[in-house]
Amino acid sequence: MAPSPKVWRTTEIIQTASHYLSEKGVENARLNAERIIGKVLDIDRVALYLNFDRPLQAAELKEIKSLLARRGNGEPLQYILKKTEFMSLEFVVDSSVLIPRPETELLVETVLEKCRGKFAGQRISILDIGTGSGCIAISLAHYLPECHVTAVDVSASALATAQVNAQQLQADTRVAFAKLDILSSTITESFQERFDVIVSNPPYVSKDEYLNLPLEVKNFEPVIALCDQGDGLLYYRRLAATVPDSLTSNGMLAVEIGAAQASAVQGILAAVFQRVECLQDLNGLDRVIVAEDVHANFEHRLQCGC
Ligand code: GLN
Repeated sequence: MAPSPKVWRTTEIIQTASHYLSEKGVENARLNAERIIGKVLDIDRVALYLNFDRPLQAAELKEIKSLLARRGNGEPLQYILKKTEFMSLEFVVDSSVLIPRPETELLVETVLEKCRGKFAGQRISILDIGTGSGCIAISLAHYLPECHVTAVDVSASALATAQVNAQQLQADTRVAFAKLDILSSTITESFQERFDVIVSNPPYVSKDEYLNLPLEVKNFEPVIALCDQGDGLLYYRRLAATVPDSLTSNGMLAVEIGAAQASAVQGILAAVFQRVECLQDLNGLDRVIVAEDVHANFEHRLQCGC
């Protein structure tokens, strides 16, 4: 009689999977293993341990192995789980969008705080440029019930993912999506309205810095969401040229920046705005720039087209 195949139980597969991932150099190997096994068994971490003796079926084992191999190969856990958390909300992510970073919460929190002060009691219109997963646009809509958000991106597949997120988070009536390449057209060409807030987390990694990013980022996250193929400042220059034309008179621009870009971006925006402020993230790194009050002569230049 052929020996019956080995029966794997939950505790045992957690041990083996953690060992495998740590051998592959994955940080927090045990946590990663638990999340992957939990996804396949459709239970959370607590339930995983309550079911420590549960025998695994062949199909479950096969799927766990295949997801573990992907993680062992460096694919980010968020893409494998197809979800991540941002601003305490759950977002779907896939390879068409950048995985939302915790630092970007500072950009959202800054806009929320500014809006609550500056535009209290008003209906606020917001434009999010390069929305990706929609995490900024949808979080703003979620936490600011009096706002309406327009979210644009150059990538049709990113917009499709963002739309799924808006539906799942019940923000789809207040977030409208549109395809727009900010480098090849101006905002006014697509939208006649002016916005109170224009927000963006553009691709700000330079061509040189991109080469040194970790393989987990380079091999799996969309390069167009990260790198401008130049000095990292291309999108700020473009925003400076096109945003003032589409802001309301006391409107503001808020952007995320790379930690070493504060003075360069402040310089670019100070040519157009009278007030430019930089904020630091939880690691003490320059991360967000807010620009307000367009210079009168710039508005004049726009009006006369010179
Ligand atoms: N913060 C991202 C990183 O970790 C870059 C995001 C961006 O280019 N907008 O590389």
